Amino acid sequence: MRTLFRGFSACAGTAVGSAVVISRGRAVRKTPAGDIAAEHQRLAEAMEGARAELTNARAELAGHDAELVLNVHLMMHGDDLLARAIKRRIDDEGVSADWALRAAVDELKSPLLASSASYFRERAEDIEHVGQHILRHLRGETLTLPNGGNVLVTHELSPADAVQLLSTGNVEGLVTATGSARSHTAILARAFDVPTVVGARGIVSAVRDAERLIVDGTNARVIVGPTAREADEVAARGARYRAYRSSLVSEGGDAVSVDGVEVTLRANVELPREASRAVRCGARGIGLLRSEFLYLDADEPPSEDAQVAAYREAARAVGDVVVVRTFDLGGDKLPSGHRLGHSRNPALGLRAIRLTMWRGSLMRTQLRAVLRAAHQHEIRVLFPLVSTVSELRAVKVLLEECRAELRDREEPFGDVAVGAMIEVPSAALQVCAISEEVDFLAVGTNDLIQYTLAVDRSDPRLAHLADPLSPAILSLLHSIRVAAETSGRPVSICGDVATHPLALPLALGLGYREFSVPPSALVFVRECIRRVEVKQLAEMATEALTLRTAAEVKALIDATVGDALRTLWTEQGIADPVSPI
Ligand code: PEP
Ligand code: MG
Repeated sequence: MRTLFRGFSACAGTAVGSAVVISRGRAVRKTPAGDIAAEHQRLAEAMEGARAELTNARAELAGHDAELVLNVHLMMHGDDLLARAIKRRIDDEGVSADWALRAAVDELKSPLLASSASYFRERAEDIEHVGQHILRHLRGETLTLPNGGNVLVTHELSPADAVQLLSTGNVEGLVTATGSARSHTAILARAFDVPTVVGARGIVSAVRDAERLIVDGTNARVIVGPTAREADEVAARGARYRAYRSSLVSEGGDAVSVDGVEVTLRANVELPREASRAVRCGARGIGLLRSEFLYLDADEPPSEDAQVAAYREAARAVGDVVVVRTFDLGGDKLPSGHRLGHSRNPALGLRAIRLTMWRGSLMRTQLRAVLRAAHQHEIRVLFPLVSTVSELRAVKVLLEECRAELRDREEPFGDVAVGAMIEVPSAALQVCAISEEVDFLAVGTNDLIQYTLAVDRSDPRLAHLADPLSPAILSLLHSIRVAAETSGRPVSICGDVATHPLALPLALGLGYREFSVPPSALVFVRECIRRVEVKQLAEMATEALTLRTAAEVKALIDATVGDALRTLWTEQGIADPVSPI
């Protein structure tokens, strides 16, 4: 029977193949150890085997940001805490290494799982992955795949297993029941360019081994049991998408519209090492460096020197401007009782600029690092989740104090332009006053949509409500752009609106001339700009601002640019931007 599942897109592109279902593995039974010394020996060999496998897997990814994911797991493998907990159980309880491992993993996971913060629950998942990996070695199980045409279906893949399986070149697509677009599995899927949908709830129990299925990473959906015609179409679409994307990458050049309007395209990156890929895709600098990933990867605040090195690395790689967004750490990434504090309602809580100002030393260290990195590079600083003018004034005082500290230390530093993200309705409504406090503005549409429409951006059940073409969002985008022009401040869009097939032409029509987008999307955004006439889009935007519903806005955009853009959407594999399937 044909069944449709929805999730989040982790890697665009489509694939069709036979399901290889990886379930959580046989349960471990509590069995007594026959020979305690022999159990210790089995454990030592299994841990060593798992570590060696991970080290080899890491070599496959040298230089890629996904290498960091494996570094974290290698550290966990090497951590004495787990080994000691297992050995103690073998000795004290006289149980098999398998059972001791299972019990030790559960014990370590339990306080993390109790946290209401997703970041710490994800770390519990990491411990589970490490445990499963060692267990596989204890049992002498190997991961093998049939030749060709495989689509992996699983709850979540451990990084070690992901590298081992994806690097065979034998995996056409990947579907996981859990995870988000920024989970470790998603990062690895992108590293191997395997079309992937994550968060497809219920998929594992709904699919049988060898069942045919389609993974549509572009439209974030999975079709189990497709018709033969559907499967043939998708296979052809996947091949076309890859060929088209490479042709656009090799084409290079600027983003200039049919009527000669030039648009600046920069890249959104999570880690400085992604900067070189951004350049290969044609980015003119980095418009959003999500610096909190430096913190999250190390699970502790990076030192001033480490941050200086990271920002310089990014700037050297792009040879252009780098916009460092200060840590957008939030309640959802911190557990209750964590020293940085926790909020009952994380999205509305102690997050981003509120958190870094509350813990002033975090902000000071980062600002000093940004100032120092700006000594020989064009670095700008961008503050997330600004909701009042006073907040901006306070942070600017801190910036001035950091300059004074560096002068006292006789440390060289450079000028940094200061920017505010407009991603909270209060900031959007007061954008004139805010723009007068800063040098530039960046619209974070992901959060602006979340807060304006009251839609949790991490809940796939609500994704259809987070419509970027809602008249309320249009009206805010319009007033932000007008305010920026009135105050003479440049404004860019760095949220997902800039990659949306219909919202991008509208944003051009509203007058936006700078976008920051993920490197993988950049060539498609550039191609869209090359196919449209901005003058015509401006007239369309004026009319769109008079409409009452998102459906009316979409119909208008489709009627205006559909002819020019339809083949681009088709080549990208976007089924129907007006009524997404
Ligand atoms: C946004 O909110 O649109 C944005 C770019 O920031 P992030 O997605 O990191 O919250
Ligand atoms: Mg945001």
